[in-house]
Amino acid sequence: MYNTLTMVGMVARLIIDGHAHVRPSLKDLAEWDYSSVAEINREMQKRVYDSGVRGKPEIRRVNDDAIDNDAWKVLWDEKRWRSWEGIRDVDFRVKQGRCFWRKNGTEYYMDLAILNNVCDPNLLVSLMDEIGVDKAVIQTTPATNKYVARVANRYPTRLLGLCGVGGGNLEEKIEELRMYVGQLELKGVYGSPPFEDKYDPWWKEVSSLEVPVHIEGSLPAIKRLLEKSPSLTLIIVHGLQRRELSDDSARKMAVDIVKNYDVYLEILAGLTTKDYDVRYLYETFGPSKLVWGSEFVQVPKHYGPRPTAEIYAYRLHYLEKNYDFLTKNDLSLILGGNVQRIYRI
Ligand SMILES: [Zn+2]
Repeated sequence: MYNTLTMVGMVARLIIDGHAHVRPSLKDLAEWDYSSVAEINREMQKRVYDSGVRGKPEIRRVNDDAIDNDAWKVLWDEKRWRSWEGIRDVDFRVKQGRCFWRKNGTEYYMDLAILNNVCDPNLLVSLMDEIGVDKAVIQTTPATNKYVARVANRYPTRLLGLCGVGGGNLEEKIEELRMYVGQLELKGVYGSPPFEDKYDPWWKEVSSLEVPVHIEGSLPAIKRLLEKSPSLTLIIVHGLQRRELSDDSARKMAVDIVKNYDVYLEILAGLTTKDYDVRYLYETFGPSKLVWGSEFVQVPKHYGPRPTAEIYAYRLHYLEKNYDFLTKNDLSLILGGNVQRIYRI
C-alpha cells in the first residue's frame, strides 16, 4: 500500500490528482457562467451537435414524438464543426429542461438530461478522502470558471481550480485572465489556448502571472509557443497521443519540448495509458516529468460505470501494481510530488 505522506529528504509529498473534474447540472443553468439566454442557446446547440457526432443523441419530433436520431445534423455545418462559424440558424431554444429546434417546418426536441454529465464536487472530495488523495487539480471549460472558483473556495485545502480558456478578443481575454487568477484565485489555466501570434500579449500575461498551463495542442504548436515564451510551465493534458508515440519525428519533438523546457506529461494510469507507454515515458522523460491524473469524477454514461472509490483506487494504484521498475520515490513524484513542486504547495 502506498502511503499518503512519503518522507523523501525533508519533503512530505502529497498525493495529488492532476486531472479531475467538477461540473454543475444542466438543469441548473444559473450555476454556469453564461451571461445571456442567447449564449445558453448557442452552447446547448453545440452540445447537442457534439452528442450527435459522438453517436449518442436521442431526438424526437414534437408533433408525433417519433424518434429521429439524425436531426442533430441540421444544427451545424459539418465542415466547420470545431468552429462557431459552423452554427446554423434553426431557431434553437432551451425551455424547461429540453432544447427545441426547427428545420423545414418540423420541430425537434431533446431532453437536456441526456447531455447532463454532472461531476459533483462533494462526491469527488469524499472519494478522495476514502482512497487517500490529498488534493486534486480541477480542469474546466470557460463555461464553468466561476463555478470552479466557488467550489475551490469551498474546499481551499483540497481542490486547485484552473480557468478554462478559448479564443476571442485579445484585450477581453487578458482582462478575464487577470480576473480569474487575481480575484477568483484560480491557480492555473486549462484548455486549448490560442496559439496564433496575435495572442502573444496574452501569453506574456500568463508568463508574468506565473501560472501553469494544462495544455491541449499539437506538438509543433506547443514547440513554437515555447520558443516565443520559454519560461512557461506546461502540463500536456493526456500526455502524448498514440499517433505521436508511433511517429519518429513527433517523438523527437516531444523529447526536445519536455527535456528543454518546464514541460510535463500527464499519465492517465489505468485509464488511457497502455502498458508500453509507461515504460517508454519513464525511460525517456524520467519520473520528475510525469503527472498522474484520473479524470474523476467524470465518468460519462457511454464511458463506463459510475464513479466509485473502487475505480478511483484502481487508477491511483495502477502504476504501483503494474510496473515493478517504478521506485517508491518515482511513484511519489508522479502521484503528486511533481504537481506539488509545480504549484509550490
Ligand atoms: Zn478530463
